[in-house]
Amino acid sequence: MSSADPAALPNSPHARDKAYALHPYTNARAHERRGPTVIESGKGIYVRDDQGNEYIEGLAGLWSVAVGFGEERLVEAAAAQMRRLPYYHSFSHKANNPAIDLAEKVASLAPAGLNRVFFANSGSEANDTVVKLLWYFNNARGRPQKKKIISRIRGYHGITVASGSMTGLPWNHRDFDLPLPNFLHTACPHHYRHAWEGESEEEFASRLAGQLEQLILAEGPATIAAFIGEPVMGAGGVLVPPRTYWQKVQAVCRKYDVLIIADEVITGFGRTGRMFGCELFDIKPDMLVLSKQITSSYLPLSAIVISDELYAGIADNSDRLGNFGHGFTTSGHPVATAVALENIRIIEEDGLVANAAAMGERLQAGLGELRDHPMVGEVRGVGLIAAVELVADPATKRAFDPLGKVGAAFFERGHGHGLIVRAVQDSIALCPPLIINAEQVDEVLKRFRLTLDDTYTWSRENFA
Ligand code: PMP
Repeated sequence: MSSADPAALPNSPHARDKAYALHPYTNARAHERRGPTVIESGKGIYVRDDQGNEYIEGLAGLWSVAVGFGEERLVEAAAAQMRRLPYYHSFSHKANNPAIDLAEKVASLAPAGLNRVFFANSGSEANDTVVKLLWYFNNARGRPQKKKIISRIRGYHGITVASGSMTGLPWNHRDFDLPLPNFLHTACPHHYRHAWEGESEEEFASRLAGQLEQLILAEGPATIAAFIGEPVMGAGGVLVPPRTYWQKVQAVCRKYDVLIIADEVITGFGRTGRMFGCELFDIKPDMLVLSKQITSSYLPLSAIVISDELYAGIADNSDRLGNFGHGFTTSGHPVATAVALENIRIIEEDGLVANAAAMGERLQAGLGELRDHPMVGEVRGVGLIAAVELVADPATKRAFDPLGKVGAAFFERGHGHGLIVRAVQDSIALCPPLIINAEQVDEVLKRFRLTLDDTYTWSRENFA
C-alpha cells in the first residue's frame, strides 16, 4: 500500500465507504479490494474525484445528466422552491404549482393522445406503476385474465420486483427469484448478434414480429395486456432496432389488442436527437415512461404519461371504488418538479435536442472510424447514445470468453485516460451530456481510441 493510497488512513472516505456501504450494481467483494472512486464535483461534461483527477463523464452519470454538471439554473430553481414549499404531497386532491406546470408541460410534449401524467421517483417505480395501471385498467374493464406483459430479452425496465421482471437481463433475475410469473420475454432486435446468415434487417424485423405474434397466440391474446420496450435499448448494450422493427411490432400488438408501452427513461428529452425516441420509429404508445433526463437526475423524478382511454378506465374505476389506491409520499414532489421544469426550459432554450442530433452525428462518425480496429465487432448508436462492441475476432464476430472481462478492463483503463464509460459485458457505451460541443466530442473520441488501444494490448497478453 503506497502512501498515496487514498484508503491508507483508517478514517478516509475510501476506508469508510469500504466499511459501511453496499453499492448498487457492484461486486461487493471486488469493491472491498478496489475501493471507491469518490466523485466530488462536476462542471459541464466533466467530473472530478477526490484525488484531483478529472474525467469526461462519457455516460452523463447514468445516461441522465442532459444539461451537464453544475448548472446554476437548476440549483436556483431547487433553492427557490425549497424556500417556498420544500415538500407537499399530492394525495386527497392536494396539488402544488410546479407539479401542475410540469404535468401540463410533459403532456404538451408527449405523443398525441397521451395527456395524463402520474409522477413517481425512479424509472423502476414508474414501471411498477405501469404494471399496476395495466392490471387495474383490465380489471376495471372486466378482463381480469388480460394481465401478462411481454418485454424483450436484454430490455431494461428497472430492478423492483415487477420492473425487474420486465427487464430481460440474467444478472437482474439470477438469485432474485425473478421474473415473476406472467412476465414474458421475446427476442431482442439486435441484428449483428441474432440475425441468421444473410438475413437482411428487414427480414430479421419481420421474423421477430412473427415470433412476437406466435408468443401472443401461444399464450392466448386474451391474456396479454401489453408489450413494453425502449425505442432504442440502452442498459442492455445500446441496441438500435432495424428501421421497420417497431412498425411491425406495433401492427402485431394492435391486431391482438395488446397495449404498447414506450420506456423512454433513457431516450426521453433529446437523447437520440429527437425529443422522444418514439419519433424516430413512429411509435404510437399507449403509455410513455420518463425519468433521468427529465431533471438531468439532479433530483429523483419519473413520470408516466397515459392515453385518454387508459385514463378514462382508471378514473371510472377509482370512482366506483371510491379511491385510487396508488401513489407515493413524494409523487409530484414540488422541488423535483420545479427542477424538471427548469431543466426542460434549458433543453428547449439552448436547443439541446438539435445539438444532440448534430453532435451525435459527429460522435457516430468518429466511432465509425473504429470499425477497422482489430478488436471492434460493431459500432452502433443514434444521436448521443452509442456503443462499441469488443470481440475476439471481428471476422467471425467471436466474443471474448469469458464475456465481460475485456469490457471491465476497458472501463478501468478509461479512468486512466480521463474517460468514464459504461461496459455492458464487452460493449462499451457512450452517452455524454447533451450540452457537449464539437471540440469535446473530438476529445471523447481521442480518449476512447487511446483506451481501446491500451485495452487491445492488454487483451493480446491475456486472451491469446
Ligand atoms: N427504464 C429504463 C429504460 C432504464 O434505462 C432504467 C435505468 N437505467 C430504468 C427504467 C430504471 O430506472 P431507475 O434506475 O431510476 O429505477
